[in-house]
Amino acid sequence: MMGRAKRAAFLTAAAVWTAGILSGCAGGDYQPIEIQTQEAAGGEHIPNTLPQAETSLKETAVSMETAPAYQTADDTVYITGDRVNIRKEGSTSGQIVGRLDKGAALKRTGIGGSWSRVIYQDQECYVSNQYIAAKPAETAAAEAENAAQAKDSPLSSAQKQEIRLNPDWQYAGMSKINSGTAVLYKAENNRKGIVVCVNAGHGTQGGGSVKTLCHPDGTPKVTSGTTQAGATTAAAVSSGMTFADGTPEHQVTLSMALKLKEKLLADGYDVLMIRETEDVQLDNVARTVIANNAADCHIALHWDSTSNDKGAFYMSVPSNETYRNMEPVKSHWQQHNALGESLVAGLKSAGVKIFSGGSMEMDLTQTSYSTIPSVDIELGDKASDHSSAALDTLVTGLLAGIDQYFGQ
Ligand SMILES: [Zn+2]
Repeated sequence: MMGRAKRAAFLTAAAVWTAGILSGCAGGDYQPIEIQTQEAAGGEHIPNTLPQAETSLKETAVSMETAPAYQTADDTVYITGDRVNIRKEGSTSGQIVGRLDKGAALKRTGIGGSWSRVIYQDQECYVSNQYIAAKPAETAAAEAENAAQAKDSPLSSAQKQEIRLNPDWQYAGMSKINSGTAVLYKAENNRKGIVVCVNAGHGTQGGGSVKTLCHPDGTPKVTSGTTQAGATTAAAVSSGMTFADGTPEHQVTLSMALKLKEKLLADGYDVLMIRETEDVQLDNVARTVIANNAADCHIALHWDSTSNDKGAFYMSVPSNETYRNMEPVKSHWQQHNALGESLVAGLKSAGVKIFSGGSMEMDLTQTSYSTIPSVDIELGDKASDHSSAALDTLVTGLLAGIDQYFGQ
């Protein structure tokens, strides 16, 4: 952490230096070693005030990076902070070729790890994904307001509203894949004024090769699942399992989500659909943050990777003191477990086979970032029947559980 005087001196030095090297990405052999060292310690831009915790977190994220493979992109991104570094390489040790302020637009040609490849002064350069958004700040702010209104009061006209990740939302900056759109549907009749987020598990192309922090504070996972305990990062969205009959999990979770949506809407619930097609470019952090801000509960649909048709259960919050004392888990873990218990009770009432006591402790990205009641429900496993009729039974059970949770 830089002191005030040191930062002031640094800012001056950086300004002088920047003025001298705005020669484009390919050019410039001047290597300002000293300045780069300080830059790496302060993150990818120079804010007026940077809290200690935020700095530590960014350093953690930076230190864990490995050289990313860039996937082709063709869109426009907007700078979200001031004096954001544009670099010759996608790394905090990459040479800075210029700086851009909030609102500046860049054509993006690639996405990898925590960096995007962009065209800056007609050359390929790189910018940290932490300081770009798919929409200009004003547009994002207007959409955020719409989302907030949608959550708190009836929508006036539109039955359907697209909701993007607003970079100003809590934890939004920790998402790496967020160019996709969730859709909010309003019930036509007997509206309850309750928004249920239906999250069809998996279905984000490229999500398995990008890493996000398991916990917003950068601490390691406390249980082993797809990612082992002790890891601080996990796949942004894993690809999911394949059923015994060869059907990929992400297809079944999508079918299930579409069925559940219809039933919820018919019953008067509003529904926030995270995914309605094979692919949505929203990672688990983005899905969770959107749900936090536009829904009253978050239900992620999954099937487990075992092969013995063991039955349905929910992923409960681990009874680990450190984990349960970490925000936002601390303030919400009881809600998560209560929702899970209700869903399992509903499934049971519909005749669905339940695994063991109906829950399994798991430290999930979803749970770690949720500020509304939030559950990962495993509706069966690789050997489970996933025919349309079987999914209908599961929908009946989940609806009963949601009704129970909200006292409907
Ligand atoms: Zn799954």
